[in-house]
Amino acid sequence: MAMNVKIVKRFEEIVGAEFVSTKPDVLLTYSQTASMAVKPVIPAVVVRPANANEVSQILKLANKYKVPVTPRSGGSSLQGEAIPKPGGIVVDLLRLGGITLYEDLRSVTVGAGVTYGELDKFLTKHGLFLPVYPESSLICTVAGNVAVNGAGPGSSLYGSIAEMVLGLEIVLPDGTVIQTGSEANPNAPGPFIRYAFGPDLTGLFIGSLGSFGIITKVSVKTFKRMKYFNYNMYGFDTEQQAEKFLVEVKQNDINGLFTSIYSGEVLDLFMDMLSEELGFPSFEHSRRTVSMTIGRVREDMVESDAKLAREICEDLGGKVLEVPEMPQQEWEGRFWNFVRASYLHGWHWRTLYHHQTPTNSHKSVDIIMEAMDKYKFLGHTAGFHTGHSSMNLYPHLYFDPQDKEEERKVVEAHKEIAKTLFRSGAVPFKLAEYWKDAIEDMDDYMAFLKLLKNTIDPSNIMNPGVLGGI
Ligand SMILES: Cc1cc2nc3c(=O)[nH]c(=O)nc-3n(C[C@H](O)[C@H](O)[C@H](O)COP(=O)(O)OP(=O)(O)OC[C@H]3O[C@@H](n4cnc5c(N)ncnc54)[C@H](O)[C@@H]3O)c2cc1C
Repeated sequence: MAMNVKIVKRFEEIVGAEFVSTKPDVLLTYSQTASMAVKPVIPAVVVRPANANEVSQILKLANKYKVPVTPRSGGSSLQGEAIPKPGGIVVDLLRLGGITLYEDLRSVTVGAGVTYGELDKFLTKHGLFLPVYPESSLICTVAGNVAVNGAGPGSSLYGSIAEMVLGLEIVLPDGTVIQTGSEANPNAPGPFIRYAFGPDLTGLFIGSLGSFGIITKVSVKTFKRMKYFNYNMYGFDTEQQAEKFLVEVKQNDINGLFTSIYSGEVLDLFMDMLSEELGFPSFEHSRRTVSMTIGRVREDMVESDAKLAREICEDLGGKVLEVPEMPQQEWEGRFWNFVRASYLHGWHWRTLYHHQTPTNSHKSVDIIMEAMDKYKFLGHTAGFHTGHSSMNLYPHLYFDPQDKEEERKVVEAHKEIAKTLFRSGAVPFKLAEYWKDAIEDMDDYMAFLKLLKNTIDPSNIMNPGVLGGI
């Protein structure tokens, strides 16, 4: 659907003609994201603003003409969150650069276009890091990750990216620009506390999938970059032993930066696909294997944590596997291993990212395995600690996009698994649209979310239908 030329002209006046496009080849590029299991949609126009003021003018115009808007940063989201709407506007935010460090406040502010890769390179020079990395860090932005409330390596200790955020600059759907956190006070020396000025308005936009407004700046915590690591794997004959190990790691304050759990079948699959490429040795693994990177700023602390982890493992009847290669690759290769493997192997999968408690994580494995038997698709799930008491599980349901029958079966399985997971006590990681049919007995909650959306965005221009289907 072509866009009214008057509106396109206005966009050109706002951002400059070279930053607006309605060319078919450009629109085609923006029709798709990394969400390969979701059908592409050609937008009407792509606009590339350079600052919050330009974003504000774009949203005012979109509101006036009631045209749907899809904010897009790295385009690396996997559940269709940044796929445009028919006849809609894609607002590409990659031109919003800038990094400001507040060393004394242990915080940093980045423009919405800054990727994790850029920020990490910058912070490394100062001996610092933002310790929550999505495995798409080279291509995704910090703001995009905040918009989806992402998690990844580092989350086992620090939680999801939400825990790192100190404040946001946001353009609301009507074009108003607000700042949250301590920086809402124009006299504040910088970002130093998020919970300022009443309820947590920052939180409203974290994980909102671009449905409540456009984030133009993000302020996050920084930490001293760790230099000392211990990498090891821990094998257990039962899921209960492995899950108890995960609880004890937390209870004993062991600094597990990335603590992942794999069932034997999943490790077989991963090893078949990736071990040669990543240089993992072959080793005897167990029914459940935990792979852990411990990190500290001091060597004695890392040694003491590693000793304690070993004792806990052995007390529970487990075995320390002495295979550092896999956790070391998980941590050191956090920027590229998953991305490289995804693209080299050309995987097509549907995801069902969710959180479980550590002691319920076997339920997710059982649910996926049962669905694989029933629907005969190739898949897996593994998980990693994401903070206080939660595991992030990332089931992948693979399919061959040329085989329409296989794709149909995977879509059906996907719907059924979402319902079964919800009933098992799991909660969504990223409230993608497909969860809406799986969520039961939460009508009042969903109605309240919808009320908030209607209040903030009465014309429903911002990424309609994406956040849990609202
Ligand atoms: C190989 C690979 C590995 C991945 N690993 C992880 C992982 O470990 N952890 C994880 O959490 N995710 C992971 N992802 C998913 C994805 O990378 C993350 O969701 C990422 O944070 C998205 O950031 P982006 O900049 O690419 O955002 P986009 O994909 O462009 O957008 C994501 C969503 O946020 C909205 N949005 C984007 N920018 C803004 C903004 N400035 N203001 C408001 N809304 C906005 C979009 O409309 C969309 O709804 C992975 C993806 C790939 C391809």
